[in-house]
Amino acid sequence: MSKNKYDVVVIGSGPGGYVCAIRLSQLGFNTAIIEKYNSLGGTCLNVGCIPSKSLLDSSHHYHDILKNASAHGIEINGEVKLDFYKMIERKNSVVNQTVKGIDFLMNKNKIKVFNGSASFSNSSTILIDGIDEPVIFDKCIIATGSKPISLPFINIDKKRIITSTEALSLHQIPKHLVIIGGGVIGLELGQVYRRLGSDVSVIEYSDRITPFMDDDISRELLKVLKKEKIKFYLSHEVFQAVNKGEHVSVKARDLNGDIKDFNCDFCLVSVGRKAYTEGLNLDIVNVELDSKGKIKVDNKFQSSNKNIYAIGDVISGPMLAHKAEEEGIAVAEILKNQKTHIDYNLIPNVIYTWPEVASVGKTEKELIKENVDIKVGKFPMRALGRSRASSDLDGFVKIIADKKSDEILGVHIIGARAADLIIEGVTAMEFRASCEDISMMSHPHPTYSEAMKEAALSALENRPLHI
Ligand code: FAD
Repeated sequence: MSKNKYDVVVIGSGPGGYVCAIRLSQLGFNTAIIEKYNSLGGTCLNVGCIPSKSLLDSSHHYHDILKNASAHGIEINGEVKLDFYKMIERKNSVVNQTVKGIDFLMNKNKIKVFNGSASFSNSSTILIDGIDEPVIFDKCIIATGSKPISLPFINIDKKRIITSTEALSLHQIPKHLVIIGGGVIGLELGQVYRRLGSDVSVIEYSDRITPFMDDDISRELLKVLKKEKIKFYLSHEVFQAVNKGEHVSVKARDLNGDIKDFNCDFCLVSVGRKAYTEGLNLDIVNVELDSKGKIKVDNKFQSSNKNIYAIGDVISGPMLAHKAEEEGIAVAEILKNQKTHIDYNLIPNVIYTWPEVASVGKTEKELIKENVDIKVGKFPMRALGRSRASSDLDGFVKIIADKKSDEILGVHIIGARAADLIIEGVTAMEFRASCEDISMMSHPHPTYSEAMKEAALSALENRPLHI
């Protein structure tokens, strides 16, 4: 028998794959994980969530010192210098430490790690580039994630026309960064470089940014980012982007057909991501894809091949690290015949701009479309003592609830620490709480979370306390 035989083999070590491997091992499965790159952690740890948040935090400090320190009575004598190289090095070190943590976890949980690109040779065998002996499995979980897409006429040369991966490791601060796509990744990176001094232009096909967010929230985010002098070209369709050597020429057309030329030193293409299945030889094992190229799975994450499952960005649903993690845990428990359930309506969405944006549940537009009789409560952050203390005055909390039953159906927040606040909305909705429940809970003072209670009071009986 092959020494490379495992109960379960996971392909891909992103938050879906590595968390799945840990849970499998906890449940007693002899588990292996295969990762194409030497560094574990996938997109999230290496070129996604962690490095982007590191640069967001560093650039936030810089921006605060330049723009906000003096209002707090802090005068800086002498020039505030920016060492961009060091900022990127720090980001690399944060990534390295986080990735090392995954090595530790694999070791601790006795998970065998293979480095190399995996491809199926039949329904129980995987070949790995650079490793002679095949790996044999009873069950396999595909967690190969996603990669950036481009527009058909744009050649991403990774030098001046770049994806988020290159934008996280630039060697110079762009003078003018053009971002194609007003989604989460484009806005987060746009704010990083705006804070560092770049002119930033966002070109978006739709008439709004972050189209999946509640309308009020994306309007407020647009307002705040415009105040920071990020330029937005909404309802503009890019039809050309060419690297001319020292600069990039980008052309876009507005609704009237008028053409706008952009000259920039870097053009970030952030128009979305697609499932990554290249090189897996899925046809050999009859694993079917849907029309978007994602692996088709049933409600137990089983593909059209009964030995092969898939989770995370490579299947349908929001492309989020915590969604991939939940699916990783769920599929491991399903293989152990345990009962498990993911409520996709309760997977929160976050944008780590400042102010942050976070939401859970349905938007107002979705609920109106579903003919649900709703009520809405809103409370502005600027009315909170905590917000005045920190000078983080932008944003609001919006709670949408069923008019009759008072059950909370959606929570949408834009404001300081929204990413951390949203879990109150998730918890409330998980337990099917009402606005009354939230309004009767003691919220610590002074905190941003008081806006949750006030928004609940507004939805309940239009009786907020502090406005
Ligand atoms: P991935 O993390 O993509 O991991 C897949 C792994 O599979 C990769 O390591 C890949 O090398 C490996 N692989 C692929 N093919 C093979 C093969 N044939 N053999 C072996 N290995 C293979 N999400 C959030 O929730 N919060 C955020 O703040 C956030 N920020 C982001 C910022 C950026 C700039 C980007 C790009 C993404 C961000 N995301 C964020 C999305 C998040 O990174 C993904 O949703 C998440 O990483 C998906 O996890 P996954 O396990 O499905 O796949």
